[in-house]
Amino acid sequence: MPMSDDFKQRLFPKLEAIAEHYGTPFHIYDEAGIRKTGEELKQAFAKIDGFQEFFAVKALPNPKILKLMHDMGFGFDCSSIPELILSRQVGGNGEEIMFTSNNTAPHEFEAALSEGGCVLNLDDISLIDKVPAPFPELICFRYNPGPRRSGNIIIGNPVEAKYGVSHEQVVDAYRKAKERGATRFGLHTMVASNELDYTYMVETARMVLEIAELVEYELDIRFEFVNIGGGFGIPYKPEDAPLDLDAMSKDITILFDAFKQKHGYAPKMFMESGRYMTGPHGCLVTTAINSKDIYRKYVGVDACMSALMRPALYEAYHHIDVPAKADQEATETYDVAGSLCENNDKFAIQRQLPPIEDGDLVVIHDSGAHGHAMGFQYNGRLRPKELLLRTDGSVELIRREETNEDYFATLNFEADSFNP
Ligand SMILES: *Cc1c(COP(=O)(O)O)cnc(C)c1O
Repeated sequence: MPMSDDFKQRLFPKLEAIAEHYGTPFHIYDEAGIRKTGEELKQAFAKIDGFQEFFAVKALPNPKILKLMHDMGFGFDCSSIPELILSRQVGGNGEEIMFTSNNTAPHEFEAALSEGGCVLNLDDISLIDKVPAPFPELICFRYNPGPRRSGNIIIGNPVEAKYGVSHEQVVDAYRKAKERGATRFGLHTMVASNELDYTYMVETARMVLEIAELVEYELDIRFEFVNIGGGFGIPYKPEDAPLDLDAMSKDITILFDAFKQKHGYAPKMFMESGRYMTGPHGCLVTTAINSKDIYRKYVGVDACMSALMRPALYEAYHHIDVPAKADQEATETYDVAGSLCENNDKFAIQRQLPPIEDGDLVVIHDSGAHGHAMGFQYNGRLRPKELLLRTDGSVELIRREETNEDYFATLNFEADSFNP
């Protein structure tokens, strides 16, 4: 199921009032759902010593959401300076932050290592010499298995992925880091995105443990943690089966137990889910403002792809509800479109829906991860507000909508011309 029945029951009876008060469009996130998923994740991996989730900040970079994550004991996965700042602002500190950057610039290393530092996760062997002194005692590398794993659809085939250290380089990477003074080690990988087959994640855990074993044997070091990355999938389509968290955690726990049997210890297990933590616990609420009937029937809503890029970018399916028409049959076939001057600005294509009238609220599911965060301002289309439905049923504005002033802010600067 896309949006859970619990979330619907908490939200839909109040939706008209919320829309009236705040105006559409908005994303609204469900605190109760996010907390439930967080607790389920902790519970599922409770038998692995030192299990920790590092929420992938890019999925939903709002301080109020990050605060929830920190309250649950989660750390943060960051890959840019603003994400580091956000994480630190909500109390994330030192080894609660993993910095998994790619094509990293010198000033990014400086920022990552200042203000209490973080766990530096290096994307390439060539970056070892570019890390400013003193070299951190704890270092991690992102491993790219190349032809050893086949990819999944969003992240692509590992052989073609720009990320990480190759299999052939991995031992050398840790050797060099050790030479520069590292004494504590972690291993990271990220090979999936929106993966619904739990066995793929089990194979990822098996892979990182094997690589850890290989490097330990070669270099006589010990891994403090392995990080299996994010990429846990959510069912966007009603017919998709959800990821089997219980089966996955059971199989992964067996792998860690076996490692412990063999070596007398096991590394901690980290993960950095974004989508799985917040994806289903958010939706984009829009109002139908126009309809047209040309070669196809269109419903025009007051949000566009600046609020949710996934359908345009990946042809991703996002389920749609029209709460006011919940008791009517889906007799119409619509393209649900935004206002942007690009023909892929459609939230749904040839979707069966009940007859929609101007003024109806149109709820686009699963916008809780990689939704608002991916937005942009192309075509002068600004990003909407974000709301949080609290566990006590109250609603809080957690980000205002963009204004024309925001759009023009970068044109407001001291004149500077230069004729070299
Ligand atoms: C995007 C990303 C994640 C989160 O991915 P999800 O699919 O949202 O779980 C985790 N780690 C890294 C390095 C990422 O780039």
